[in-house]
Amino acid sequence: MLVDIDSQSGFCGGVIRAIGRAEDFLGKRDHLYSLGAIVHNEAELDRLGAKGLRPVDSLDAVTEGESVLIRAHGEPPQTYAEARRRGVTVIDCTCPVVLRLQRHIREAYARLHADGRHGTLIIFGKVGHAEVLGLLGQVGGDAKVVENRQMLDDVLSSIDLSEPVEIFSQTTKSPSEYAAVCAAVARRIGGGLTVHDTICSQVANRHERLAAFARSHDVILFVSGRASSNGKVLCDLCRSANPRTYHIGNAAELDPAWFRPDDHVGICGATSTPKWLLEEVAAAVRDL
Ligand code: SF4
Repeated sequence: MLVDIDSQSGFCGGVIRAIGRAEDFLGKRDHLYSLGAIVHNEAELDRLGAKGLRPVDSLDAVTEGESVLIRAHGEPPQTYAEARRRGVTVIDCTCPVVLRLQRHIREAYARLHADGRHGTLIIFGKVGHAEVLGLLGQVGGDAKVVENRQMLDDVLSSIDLSEPVEIFSQTTKSPSEYAAVCAAVARRIGGGLTVHDTICSQVANRHERLAAFARSHDVILFVSGRASSNGKVLCDLCRSANPRTYHIGNAAELDPAWFRPDDHVGICGATSTPKWLLEEVAAAVRDL
């Protein structure tokens, strides 16, 4: 079998930056807490765990004088205030793209409520996702999060459509789904809508190239952690371009029954999938 690794797959810039800062810190100290998983990939978390990275669910698990890493997804302002109150040092690895989105959301909120207006801020994103919680925190939770057309219809029937609406997307959503949601809002609202193009360019570019990569191979192995939101979106994209797409977390999940001897196999992953894991899967396929 011929095996190719997609040259565009692997960590995005935001994840590379966060992991680099964690490893720098762990070169000098024996442990570092991270608020949530630094990356949605179990194999990479195991590698970093061996170096002393300890994911925690809340600041309750971090004692005074310790350091905590804020991952690329970002956090609401309350997290920073709470860390200060507890005497915990923050190593802020919020991706610059997410920081810019947080600022744009604060500015939009101020516009929507200037001069007595009661406009609505809509975020197209996954309910409960860490990045979305960080975005909501910028406006005291006063925004509508929609993750599908049904939720959008519910929101549009609950707001005053004569007031302005501004819409933003979580950075890792599908560009085509976001375009469809924005078109649906525009049909209902017309002139009072401002659409912000806030999908990360690294994600948007991958969408275009990944569909072509999936079509040009007989079998696609999509490698990502089950908790990766970006992984689910990109794997669905591959599957729609190539029905012989299999989602795996690592090489141990390979099933020889998926392959025929003359197959051309393509291996790709999410923005949270390390390159070394893609190479490990490629080596395992060659050994089948
Ligand atoms: S996907 Fe884009 S916005 Fe999100 S962490 Fe990576 S580089 Fe930053």
